[in-house]
Amino acid sequence: MTTHKPLVVITGASSGIGLATARLLSRRGHALLLLARRLEPMLQLQLPNSLALSVDVSDRAAVLAAVAQAEQRFGPVDAIINNAGVMLLGSIATQDPGEWDRMLDINVRGLLNGIHAVAAGMVERKHGTIINVSSVAGRKTFPNHVAYVGTKFAVSGLSENLREELSPSNVRVITIEPGAVETELLSHTSDEAIKAGYNDWKQGMGGVLTADNIAEVIDFAYGQPQSVCIREIVVCATRQQQ
Ligand code: NDP
Repeated sequence: MTTHKPLVVITGASSGIGLATARLLSRRGHALLLLARRLEPMLQLQLPNSLALSVDVSDRAAVLAAVAQAEQRFGPVDAIINNAGVMLLGSIATQDPGEWDRMLDINVRGLLNGIHAVAAGMVERKHGTIINVSSVAGRKTFPNHVAYVGTKFAVSGLSENLREELSPSNVRVITIEPGAVETELLSHTSDEAIKAGYNDWKQGMGGVLTADNIAEVIDFAYGQPQSVCIREIVVCATRQQQ
């Protein structure tokens, strides 16, 4: 007998928003497939009915194989939360273009790989939810964000197009666009002056959102009946002005 709610895939589940969402959806009783490159933080969660795999989302074959393995064990995917991402801020004149490539590979190609792994099955079953984590930087611009903003505008744009395409198949597409959230995200930016300025900006607004705040938002949107699609949620700290 099944003792769990349907399978949810979460990419980028080893820290921040993905990890907080994994905890919350597990409390709700869902089986989970957790994907990220670092396996240990996902194993440490010790969530019941979960499979954690070390997968780079830019590796399409690995994403497909992981989803197939989880479906074999827990049944069809009901939802995917395409959350894995990196933010490498930089001035476009001086930034190493390799950083743009990484962001495009993970934030855009990786997200498309997640969609690819589940869309055909959801269309066939006429049921499912795809949640894409974009950013407020998918709607407006910020200093030193050119390449990152490019990836997040891509996520917001393709998500709306995907929503239109999958809507006749009763598949929901939900775009989450957070403002600043306290996670590991900023730590990968290599320019120390930009990092310091960003931290000052966060402190100037008296602190930012927590990963749990975003997990609650994702849970709320996903928790609506299948006939209700909250298309887009922009969520920022009240004191985030931009
Ligand atoms: P974190 O850095 O804490 O988490 C990012 C997650 O993505 C980690 O689990 C990381 O795991 C995973 N990840 C990175 N690269 C890959 C990869 N190649 N393959 C698989 N997983 C990968 O940051 P957040 O929780 O803040 O970020 C989550 C999402 O939220 C991102 O898409 C980000 O752009 C978005 N966002 C964040 C905001 C913020 O202020 N924090 C604001 C708006 C949007 P690992 O390194 O183990 O692979």
